[in-house]
Amino acid sequence: MGNTKTILHYYRFALDKADEREQYFALCKILEDDLHLKKFDSISPEHSKWYRESIVPLNGETIELETKFLFDNQWNTAPTKTSDNGLRVFDWAEAIYPNRDIREGQWLEQTDEMIGLRNDNLKCHWCGNVSPKAVIVDDTCPFCDAVGFRLLTTGGGRDVFTVPKKEQRDGVSHSEIIKRNQKIRQVDNEDNE
Ligand SMILES: [Zn+2]
Repeated sequence: MGNTKTILHYYRFALDKADEREQYFALCKILEDDLHLKKFDSISPEHSKWYRESIVPLNGETIELETKFLFDNQWNTAPTKTSDNGLRVFDWAEAIYPNRDIREGQWLEQTDEMIGLRNDNLKCHWCGNVSPKAVIVDDTCPFCDAVGFRLLTTGGGRDVFTVPKKEQRDGVSHSEIIKRNQKIRQVDNEDNE
């Protein structure tokens, strides 16, 4: 999976001003109803500085998202002009300030590729590795052989297949499943060479 790109947006509204209040709730409606995003509220004394230094300069710009690790509400970015190590950005995040009239946040345009990455992959509940749905055999993770995945649906993932590991499932022994997964790993390695 190569990296993917999207456009980042920043906002700041003062809800005690009627026009900004109206703009804010109109934006929330679009993010909720059209983009199907769920707001991530976060509290940190560093938010003001983080938005000012890391996010504001990227407003309206294309950023590159890494696809090695996938989440249902956030992304790691490749290095940006504001961070050599890349940033952790959310599909939609908002800072909670003591003054609730101030609403400051960021959101990402949702591309078909971003939606597809989440739909086509499952994340192992145990080791966190991401595998294409197509290579998962008998509900076991090709990386750690455990059972239990997370659906990465945008706007709120959910756990699936979380059943305890057991010796026999549907007539296939766990050691047989591990052997099959080893084969998948070998094929993966050969593909990468
Ligand atoms: Zn795993």
